[in-house]
Amino acid sequence: MDVDIVCVGFGPATAGFLTTLSKRLVNADGTPAVESPTQPGLPPQVLCYERADAIGFGVSGVVTRGRALRASLPDLDKAGIPMAASVGEEKVLYLLDPVGASRRSRTLRLADSLIRATQWALPFEHAAVELPWTPAFLHKHGGLVLSLGQFLQWVGAQVQSTGTVQIWPGTPVAQALWEENQVVGVRLLDQGVDKAGTPGDGFLPGMDIRAALTVVGDGPVGPIGQQFDAHFGRPEDHHARDWAIGMKFVVDLPEGTPLKPGTVLHTFGFPEPELFGFLYVHPDRVASLGLFVPSWFDSPTRTAYRYLQHWMLHPYLWRYLQGAKLRSWGAKTLGESGRRGEPHLVGDGFARIGEGSGSTNVLTGSGVDEAWATGVQLAEAVFELLKAKKPFTQQNLDETYVRRRRESWVEEEGRVAEKSRDGFQRGVVSGMLGMVLTSLTKGRFSLFKGPVPPHARLKTLEDYFRNRIPPEELAQLRKECAIKGVSLHGALMHRCGWPAIPYDGQLLVSHQDALLLGGKVQAPPGYADHVVFLYPNLCEQCGTKICIEACSGQAIAPGEKGVPAFDREKCVHCGACLWNCAQPAPGNPDRMNIAFRAGTGGLHSAEN
Ligand SMILES: Cc1cc2nc3c(=O)[nH]c(=O)nc-3n(C[C@H](O)[C@H](O)[C@H](O)COP(=O)(O)OP(=O)(O)OC[C@H]3O[C@@H](n4cnc5c(N)ncnc54)[C@H](O)[C@@H]3O)c2cc1C
Ligand code: SF4
Ligand code: SF4
Repeated sequence: MDVDIVCVGFGPATAGFLTTLSKRLVNADGTPAVESPTQPGLPPQVLCYERADAIGFGVSGVVTRGRALRASLPDLDKAGIPMAASVGEEKVLYLLDPVGASRRSRTLRLADSLIRATQWALPFEHAAVELPWTPAFLHKHGGLVLSLGQFLQWVGAQVQSTGTVQIWPGTPVAQALWEENQVVGVRLLDQGVDKAGTPGDGFLPGMDIRAALTVVGDGPVGPIGQQFDAHFGRPEDHHARDWAIGMKFVVDLPEGTPLKPGTVLHTFGFPEPELFGFLYVHPDRVASLGLFVPSWFDSPTRTAYRYLQHWMLHPYLWRYLQGAKLRSWGAKTLGESGRRGEPHLVGDGFARIGEGSGSTNVLTGSGVDEAWATGVQLAEAVFELLKAKKPFTQQNLDETYVRRRRESWVEEEGRVAEKSRDGFQRGVVSGMLGMVLTSLTKGRFSLFKGPVPPHARLKTLEDYFRNRIPPEELAQLRKECAIKGVSLHGALMHRCGWPAIPYDGQLLVSHQDALLLGGKVQAPPGYADHVVFLYPNLCEQCGTKICIEACSGQAIAPGEKGVPAFDREKCVHCGACLWNCAQPAPGNPDRMNIAFRAGTGGLHSAEN
């Protein structure tokens, strides 16, 4: 099939692109404002393929200043999008450890003792202290609390109602089509194949969609973005080595909750000092809450799900959450390299937008607005080129899209933020100080050098638990878990003093129940596995197996001969396995031993 423009992924970046472009393609009287080069007399043919089974079946927290969103959508505040609220009270809280199980440095233990000793003089309650001063970059005054799922569904309906754009959910793009260095479109995923991709009954090869321009907006772990990175590499000194998994619950708060819509809480310090939490309140007693587990957290058993439950049980939060009910759940990777992860933005026949193009601001923790802004910039550029009847060459896209991007606030603020997180390479205290330093000096100074790839700083189980669990006992626990075919983190956390989770069947539910109740995870048959262990011999020798411990959906489990087994039906497509691997892929230290490819299914909830 031949079209003019094909887009990969419908996240905020592509939503910004299509919102802007769709409004310009036709005049008020319905005649084409520019003509399709492939179908003269018609407006340009624009298609967008989204992997998830419906628009908005992804995950994001979303509190945003909404500068770019409001510029494109002047009626945004009055639109009545479900779950939207204006930002109200904002607090940053340091959570002390009421359990005594977290792994705190001497400095933090000293700080905790000082806080407890002087709590009468501090804004201290329920084992948490509210930071009396927070730097401006942490605030979202005047912004919005949104559900990204609800927002994207609303935008998607608007875009499609213009009649100039088609969006196809449930349609993963498998690969880009190349003619030498020119991108000439995309190929969709094969159907009717087995787990290994071998054709079976009902085989339907993925359709080729040829297009003059391919817009890649497939997010931080998108397979098409990865193919471009493998093909072109990154500009000098650019790399994507900082990641985090964001895991999120959407809950009904108990009746009579004192939390008002628009309340924004950010936390750090517990359950481990390296983990950051958030709680945003929507209208009608609904709240989004969750935890970020970063790649610089050296633990080889970094399990977001178990930690999120301990976080909810912290006394400061539990007084609001006791009696709450789970509505939906999910997880997704954040690309935390920001501008330093920027790939080659354009080439002959393609352009990259959104988080996968390095747009996320890692100082302010803002990605939606920036991704949207890059989509708008590309749409303006594309319209300019269509009007001038110029082809989508690298040079033309450079002079229109990249120029706009370089002149914008996304670039200016992204440069300030670029090195702001480097201090976290040495721990949470230096990380926080580094962020303040970078913010105060407008990016001129940062603490310490840039990050190494995640596998290079990951500790072995023996090293990480050196002072807590004797090696013989560790070996025994490992053996027992292998026999049971379960991950290790439960046994290790129990051994380190973490109490069992008191499941209540409505908020505190098992990981398996979260998959069914909260994520409603599904995987249609007839598709190949999208998570692949590239070099099984490396897995056989791997003592850490962090892929199993960190898997957000328990989709990776111990397998035969030491090679993990992947279960597509539990995969929430969070992409965490792409960077939670202990071994580099031979020949490329920035890639690991797992491939995360295009795949179907995943979460079935648009509340996230
Ligand atoms: C838990 C969490 C909390 C967050 N909180 C905030 C916040 O409060 N504020 C904020 O500003 N940002 C927040 N972010 C970051 C924000 O979500 C991202 O920066 C933003 O979504 C990036 O937009 P994008 O369009 O570039 O990519 P994405 O949102 O990742 O969208 C990419 C889309 O492409 C699709 N796709 C991928 N591969 C394919 C394929 N092969 N074929 C077809 N489609 C494909 C995906 O399904 C997805 O829909 C948060 C993220 C997480 C995970
Ligand atoms: S995928 Fe990576 S972490 Fe998992 S077993 Fe293989 S080498 Fe180890
Ligand atoms: S297997 Fe699926 S759920 Fe597990 S980490 Fe990978 S993408 Fe996430």
